[in-house]
Amino acid sequence: MITQLRGHHLLCLLGFQGMGYSPEFAANMARIHARLRAHPETGVEIVTGADSLCACFPKDQVNHCGESPVSERDARVLERLGLAPGARLPWRDIWKRLQESVEPADIDAWCLSCPWRPYGVCAAGVARMKIDARLSAPETRPFQSRGGDAAHSRD
Ligand code: SF4
Repeated sequence: MITQLRGHHLLCLLGFQGMGYSPEFAANMARIHARLRAHPETGVEIVTGADSLCACFPKDQVNHCGESPVSERDARVLERLGLAPGARLPWRDIWKRLQESVEPADIDAWCLSCPWRPYGVCAAGVARMKIDARLSAPETRPFQSRGGDAAHSRD
């Protein structure tokens, strides 16, 4: 089964700590994260717009999949990785490209408008990625929705 991922979600996966827009969204992201961690040979198709993570975005919330800052973020990440929508490759090859070309400081440059960025978990995820052989398991945290003390959105 191929996993569809948009550009910036390649980064979001690196800092994933079990949170999301809804329990269903977080559970879906956790499943995909676990699959890529356990099976780096998993095939990934780079897509434009909504992907396998967006598939579980809650239907009662306004999505932002097509907003230009989000699309621009996708494009910047893909340009750095030398990838384009339509590319199909194993996750392990994406991991290699990430290790070679993405730095923790890129999160501040690319993700300025993302409410998740100030928590620092994404930059920390990039730093881990630079030295790890594969995705690391997220810390176990309960699901937290937008609006709580540890509120965030993940786009
Ligand atoms: S800061 Fe936001 S967009 Fe950037 S990697 Fe983290 S969750 Fe994804």
